Amino acid sequence: MARQIRAMRGATLRCKGWRQESLLRMLENVLEVGERPEDLVVYTAGARAARNWDSFDRIVRALQGMEEGQTLVIQSGKPIGLFTTYADAPIVVMANANLVGRWAVPEVFYDLDRRGLTMPAGFTAGGWQYIGTQGIAQGTYMTFLAAAHEKFGGTLAGRLVVTSGCGGMGGAQPLAVTLNGGVAIVIDVDRAKIERRVRTGYCNRVCEDLDETLRMCQKALRDRAPLSVGLVGNAAEVMPELLRRKVIPDIVTDQTSASDPVDGYIPAGFSLAEASELRGRDLTAYLKKVFQSIGTHVEALLAFQAAGALVFEYGNNLRAQAKEAGVEKAFEIPSFMPRFIRPFFFEGRGPFRWIAISGDPEDITRIDELVLREFGDDPYASQWVDLARKAIKGEGLPARICWLKHGQRSRLAMLVNEMVRTGVLHGPVAFARDNLDGASAALPWRETENMPDGSDAIADWPLLNALLNVACRADLVTIHSSAGGAAGTGVSCGTTVVADGTPAGELRLQRTLNAETSLGMLRYADAGYSEAVANVRKAGIQELSLGGSQGKGAARG
Ligand code: NAD
Repeated sequence: MARQIRAMRGATLRCKGWRQESLLRMLENVLEVGERPEDLVVYTAGARAARNWDSFDRIVRALQGMEEGQTLVIQSGKPIGLFTTYADAPIVVMANANLVGRWAVPEVFYDLDRRGLTMPAGFTAGGWQYIGTQGIAQGTYMTFLAAAHEKFGGTLAGRLVVTSGCGGMGGAQPLAVTLNGGVAIVIDVDRAKIERRVRTGYCNRVCEDLDETLRMCQKALRDRAPLSVGLVGNAAEVMPELLRRKVIPDIVTDQTSASDPVDGYIPAGFSLAEASELRGRDLTAYLKKVFQSIGTHVEALLAFQAAGALVFEYGNNLRAQAKEAGVEKAFEIPSFMPRFIRPFFFEGRGPFRWIAISGDPEDITRIDELVLREFGDDPYASQWVDLARKAIKGEGLPARICWLKHGQRSRLAMLVNEMVRTGVLHGPVAFARDNLDGASAALPWRETENMPDGSDAIADWPLLNALLNVACRADLVTIHSSAGGAAGTGVSCGTTVVADGTPAGELRLQRTLNAETSLGMLRYADAGYSEAVANVRKAGIQELSLGGSQGKGAARG
């Protein structure tokens, strides 16, 4: 029978301390909220929490038996050993899915994965920091908000957004559009994925029929009422059909798992079962179909762009796969990153999140109230928390995503640590983030695309981020690379620090969280963004790289 994992709640410790127990609950939680937990798959086609069930069980036993002053080393989801370090050292360090440069290509990765030597870990699956679809919800909301400001006067009311992919990450798109007042059609081949988003409050309804979907959306557009419809279908069929009918949306994007052509993107004309059958029988024939479909899909996106729609890639390597499929103009579609998100990194803002280890939703409510009190004048904190409290249903351990900036993150975490110490909260709180942060990612087709100094492919920053976080005694530090069909396209660092109510915990939080955002701002200052240079100076960060300049790309800002 398939194993079902649910994160432990309450005040009972199974480990020898709350730091270990918190990480154990985070591991359990990524499976509780994951997309295919029976196979240890958390999100993005195949990103796993542990190499296999045997590794999972051995990680659990290691966390339960660890003494203070030991560090657990994990290599691509498999526990390797317990090492004597320091009482304050990280509890877990990991390296996931990393390959030596020349070998970091999909064929080698898939082969090593099938031989059980590595695993795809995503950026928060193998690092146990995934909190369900909420984790990407604010970033997606902010992306559509920035698009609305750029072209539609700051609102999507009366605007149609068409996108695809309603999985672990993509499932945030319908809610992000309706929170901006717009109407969304989200195409997914898998009805069950859409139904899950309807159940968890991310999508309003599911529909199998394009005509009916368009009728519902046209009415909502006329009424300027927010609506999201998950349309069961294949993007490579529906997008060209919309073009044929001359339905030109205001915004078009995509979040199918195009990054993984083997286990992710489903070719046109195939049901899930048919795709699985051909994949197993003749992978070469299957991949030919996948790339043909991605080509058709992206040609349609380019045609929407030519017809005046705002089209952008949403971080799933769709353009690179389309180029591979022979679509020469694929990169004429811009990425969401430099256009809508990068300026946030200049002030150390990024996808910060916290998880109530007690499992008690009241802990998150109390921290929400704290955020509203402390950062009431910051719309990215207060307006978002207000929206999230109303719109986001809980999945797994209670959690909150909130894009706090440099200084705010450490301040909040220290206040929360005090609330843990004094018993205002029912248990510890883990602070983490995903890869989409200032220094934590080198992905030349996403986070670091089109840097002003050309440093897109420099992978030193996430590695330095990880080293620095170990020096700051974060509780879990991981270095991971893009895997599967995206192998060789990115390197990233993940971090978790636990507010356990102790003075040592306070120091760990303060140092790690300040170091992370400082390094992130320095990365963008070093690349030449003048706002980042100014923010580094304003924050009093001890930089040694800017040489008194106002930034190499001051004019570019
Ligand atoms: P997922 O595997 O959970 O979901 C992908 C969905 O796409 C599935 O529901 C699948 O049924 C659907 N799908 C596949 N082929 C399709 C097709 N041809 N037409 C319609 N639907 C199709 O993956 P996810 O975690 O949601 O991630 C999606 C993509 O987003 C990945 O490529 C991932 O790398 C990328 N991603 C982007 C960001 C970001 O910051 N923008 C963050 C994380 C992940």
